Amino acid sequence: MIQLPQIAPWLEPLWKALDFGNFPNAVLLHGQSGIGKFAFSVELAKALLCENSSDSARPCNQCEACHWFDTGNHPDFIALVPETHRKLLPRGNYEGDDASKKGKSSREDDSETSEKKEKKNISIEETRSAIENLSIGSHRGGNRVILIYPLEMLRSDSANTLLKSLEEPPENTIFILLADRVDRVLPTIRSRCRLLTAPRPHREQGLAWLIEQLGAISGLKVSNADIETVYDEQGGAPFSVLSSLIARHNKDDKDELSISIQATRYLLQSMAQGVRINWLDTAEKTHKAQYGFLLAAMQRWVSDLQSVAQGGVPRYYPKHLNTLEGLSKMASIPKLLQFWRLLVQARRNENHPLANRIQLESLLSQYQQIFGV
Ligand SMILES: [Zn+2]
Repeated sequence: MIQLPQIAPWLEPLWKALDFGNFPNAVLLHGQSGIGKFAFSVELAKALLCENSSDSARPCNQCEACHWFDTGNHPDFIALVPETHRKLLPRGNYEGDDASKKGKSSREDDSETSEKKEKKNISIEETRSAIENLSIGSHRGGNRVILIYPLEMLRSDSANTLLKSLEEPPENTIFILLADRVDRVLPTIRSRCRLLTAPRPHREQGLAWLIEQLGAISGLKVSNADIETVYDEQGGAPFSVLSSLIARHNKDDKDELSISIQATRYLLQSMAQGVRINWLDTAEKTHKAQYGFLLAAMQRWVSDLQSVAQGGVPRYYPKHLNTLEGLSKMASIPKLLQFWRLLVQARRNENHPLANRIQLESLLSQYQQIFGV
């Protein structure tokens, strides 16, 4: 199993600003998905449970509490997270069911989609029983820590139960709440938490960190160009890139991700042609990749194009600044906006692609029209 670093370098200032001597009873850590919030909050939970009296170096990694935490057996740590994130918790906090599924193909047919969706959610039963049991004191007599992620996925009945606990916090209980989209969190919950904003790293910092992490994984060979492509694809979220590349490393996902990376590269090269795009050829060469992956790349490209057209800087493809500038001068802004709306609409239906190739052809021919055909 691969051990991820707990505190990413770009989150260190946030960590250093924490005051363990006077910690609020609820924090809401929010920021873009895939930048290391989860690992940060697991380390935070450990620090809050550490029983070493000195405040300077938490967690101490030596006391009994730290030991219990690392072995996944701390009785006062409750993690309400979906199955997809349970494997990122210290050993034992998950029931080890992942190993049995490893051999299973990652390809899933439609009948499994709802099951997959369920795994991304927090179990309702679990939430209810965890929160209801808070009236009982902590096992070790110290803090009790409850980590909830993703907070925006909490169903309304669970959210109400949580809200009640936040209004009348049980003694020595600290809530670590995590959200990718803070605007989707109930304002009543938000207002009862200390907000911690997790920043995204600068591109150079994120890439350097990734290259270091990947270098430490034996047998994983990936070119820096591929790392950069996936990095930009995933909106500059290094932890997402890391797990994508690790997934690719595992046989099941290797082909699918490679196809998507190559197709995206081809797609971007074509879109860079503006009015000269050969959309029939592009659709032909890319339609076997995941449709959602292609749409996301188009969205990023068009988003950069819009931003450059308005005198801003590209967020996703800074390397292509010159191309974007050239294209933006030829683009019709209303048509660009119209195309953006088309993409948003297409993304809503991306899980039901009837005929990827035809849809791609249609989208790309409309892209061409932005540049005045
Ligand atoms: Zn400790």
